[in-house]
Amino acid sequence: MENGGLKMESDAQQRSSILHPPSSILASSYRGRLAPSPTGLLHLGHARTFWVAQERARANGGILVLRNEDIDSTRFKLEFVPQMIEDLRWFGFEWQEGPDCGGDFEPYSQSERRSFYVAALEKLRAGGFVYPCTCSRKDIRDAASAPNAGDDEGPIYPGTCRSNRQSDIVNRKFSWRFRVPDGETISFTDGNFGAQQFVAGKDFGDFVVWRHDDVPAYQLACVVDDAAMGITEVVRGADLLMSTARQILLYRALGLTPPAFYHCALMLDEKGKRLAKRHDALSLRTLRERGETPERLRRI
Ligand SMILES: [Zn+2]
Repeated sequence: MENGGLKMESDAQQRSSILHPPSSILASSYRGRLAPSPTGLLHLGHARTFWVAQERARANGGILVLRNEDIDSTRFKLEFVPQMIEDLRWFGFEWQEGPDCGGDFEPYSQSERRSFYVAALEKLRAGGFVYPCTCSRKDIRDAASAPNAGDDEGPIYPGTCRSNRQSDIVNRKFSWRFRVPDGETISFTDGNFGAQQFVAGKDFGDFVVWRHDDVPAYQLACVVDDAAMGITEVVRGADLLMSTARQILLYRALGLTPPAFYHCALMLDEKGKRLAKRHDALSLRTLRERGETPERLRRI
């Protein structure tokens, strides 16, 4: 490592360099990823999206990375990880890097990557991109005049804490919220759905990058990991299309290059509602116990 002798470099600088993948081990070829959360109940909807990710990696002669998104210890349990890996293997997934098999971009579990997220938060703070927010969910609901942005989206954050400074906050928990450039149109071309446009401050508001319980938010962890792991294309469900606009803003603020994006239509249940964790009957575990075969499930 050429940095080995540079003792002058501050901790923060050293950590910020880990946000960028080491170019020496990054081939220019396709790198995709599967990023499941270890809930113990991977369902068929996840599996179908992951299957598209695997097919695209194969078609491009690329590498598939398994990333264990276990950052939220209040929701996920360590013992679910082997179960999740077993379910994925049963379905027919094969990855070349991951928490079970290692790789050049270790660690592959988010719970072990906190230093990466801390470095990114420091960079956002230094650049003035985030501010401390003391609002509760109820505060936001009560203050928001804007309608809900969408299905899973809460009300648009009304900007209550935009002028907060950390030094003003005494003995209160707070989250770090990213200040979006109001009125700016964020455009990108999705590999599946084509041209996409979202307007910051209208379609989505300032969003949390670090939660009040001291856990990095999904948006931040996802961007930091995809960049640090050299992911070239992100394949995921269409419910995250608008999050992609948020994440593009994070890539920009962190000085990182966004990957390509390919969003998949979500699987719906018989009532036309999207599959969720409540659909236990469609968990891979249950389907397997009922005698379903992966070969048949891949064709559904
Ligand atoms: Zn607030």
